[in-house]
Amino acid sequence: MIDVAIIGGGIAGLSAGQYAARASMSVCIFEELALGGQGLIIGELENYPGLEKPVQGFELIQRLETQAQNFGVEFSYKKVEGLRKADEGHFVLEFDGEEIEAKTVILATGAAHRTLGCKGEDTFSGRGVSYCATCDGPFFKGKKMFVIGGGDSACGEALYLTKLSDEIVLCHRRDRFRAQSSIVKRIMEHPSIEVRFNTELKEIKGEKGIEKVVVYNNETDTYTEEDAEAVFIFVGALPRTKVLDGFKDLAKDEAGYIKTNEEMMSSVPGLFAAGDVRNTPFRQLVTAASDGAIAAHFAAHYIDACDDNVYEGLKN
Ligand code: NAP
Repeated sequence: MIDVAIIGGGIAGLSAGQYAARASMSVCIFEELALGGQGLIIGELENYPGLEKPVQGFELIQRLETQAQNFGVEFSYKKVEGLRKADEGHFVLEFDGEEIEAKTVILATGAAHRTLGCKGEDTFSGRGVSYCATCDGPFFKGKKMFVIGGGDSACGEALYLTKLSDEIVLCHRRDRFRAQSSIVKRIMEHPSIEVRFNTELKEIKGEKGIEKVVVYNNETDTYTEEDAEAVFIFVGALPRTKVLDGFKDLAKDEAGYIKTNEEMMSSVPGLFAAGDVRNTPFRQLVTAASDGAIAAHFAAHYIDACDDNVYEGLKN
């Protein structure tokens, strides 16, 4: 029986891991792919506290991994297929052909990118349509690239792409950005970025790769077709909560993010959520790290409280 099982090895999970391990809990982080989550694909990280100069996201992740290992966190690279609560009050993590028991669970699975749904998006996905500028931008060095969206991701990734090309067209469906003002200022002043407000991407066309896009100006009600070689789409995210499908009464907000109290505990006693998967008003690496620390701290409290019979359910 593990004290704290953490599902997801992004920054929230890694932070939770080291806090729980330092509190003398037995901890395992279950990660199906690679540690790091969204942090891994950040090209240049400049707003994480303590950084004197920007670092690449993966550098920070490597440090967090080493730090967690040093404190005794274990890592398991398998996919958690399901989760249930046993009659005794502990949790059972379900894997392909195996089950592992845990007194508490911290869900730190993050959120996945949302697709736009325009014509040609599926056809060219992986062949010019991308959801990660740092991963795919270098394939289109010097080419004309479109970026779709108006949040921090679209604006941040558009800025990253200016390292690769001086023809970046940033299209946003409204007349103002949702992104933080500091980044918007840099976008508006950047000579390599052409900002198009009130503009929607309607179609992506080409033969082997992308050749043209059709954009619609919803202010002037006009369609234009123009050259493009890559399209980067950043239109928000969907919380990754599939592993909790069995918890029918789990409280979520209207977008599906997990509701927690200030201790990061969900409506299911002993089940915590941290980072982008929970309904937080501000999604940053630093807030994800903070969520993880809080969740771990109160997971340890929860175990103590159960030992003292404050909570019903966990009987050991
Ligand atoms: P987001 O903040 O939800 O923004 C999504 C953007 O996509 C919005 O501008 C939205 O337009 C647009 N959009 C949504 N559906 C669309 C559609 N069907 N067609 C066209 N446009 C559409 O998502 P995000 O930028 O991925 O950021 C997610 C969270 O991570 C945010 O909390 C953000 O602050 C955080 N984040 C932080 C950083 C950082 O600090 N460095 C970096 C990345 C992300 P509307 O504005 O019209 O709704």
